[in-house]
Amino acid sequence: MRLGDLPWTRIRATLAAGAPCVAILPCGAVEAHGPHLPLTTDVIISEAFADAAAGKLNAEGVSAFVLPALAYAPAEYAAAFPGTIGLSVEAAKNVLLDIAQSLKGQGFACLAIANSHFDPANVAMLREAAAEIERRGLAVAFPDFTRRTLAQSLTAEFISGACHAGRFETSIVLAARPDLVDDTRRAALTPNPASLTEAMARGARTFHEAGGPDAYFGAPAEASAAEGAATTDIMADALASAIRSALGATK
Ligand SMILES: [Zn+2]
Repeated sequence: MRLGDLPWTRIRATLAAGAPCVAILPCGAVEAHGPHLPLTTDVIISEAFADAAAGKLNAEGVSAFVLPALAYAPAEYAAAFPGTIGLSVEAAKNVLLDIAQSLKGQGFACLAIANSHFDPANVAMLREAAAEIERRGLAVAFPDFTRRTLAQSLTAEFISGACHAGRFETSIVLAARPDLVDDTRRAALTPNPASLTEAMARGARTFHEAGGPDAYFGAPAEASAAEGAATTDIMADALASAIRSALGATK
């Protein structure tokens, strides 16, 4: 259920019914993703696994709503590419805190963060915001796929760190929004094995410095919708599980 598609009376009725209500916020970016994927790739990915997690939870009797996505985020690595539109860390964090404040005031039991934009500044901001929101009294579920345990549940390309607009992300977009993938371009792209995470660790500050002059890392030509659907399901399971834990802790 996407909250933005519903009338307010539906939310009132669900909150009044007494069972805990969860709001899932898909967090993405407007950021260059190779010559074959849309700028909102991370929004599409986060919405895909947020929708799937909400479906799983609603089937178990938990009221989970997917909020309109937070499409803007810190995106310094891709700042040189036209179309990338970044926020400052402070602005992004304040948006999250304000959204959480609204939800808490209305009686939501939990804010879940569904993030697929792994820019280090964005991930650090989300961790800080999650901690602050919890200090202010609202439970947060935030499966952080950059943490080792969760990362290990994803694909080999993701684990290698050569994973921006490569096989991993392209597969998910092929499953969710195949109409937005330029398949001719995708098939012609040679693999870029440069590991973004390793480059970041040695101090690269941009995609160019990290060895990705076309804003992709990994192997887009190897992507498939089947892999994308499977990955979406794994990410949805991790999100649903984090939400169950967060709700359990509030009881
Ligand atoms: Zn991405």
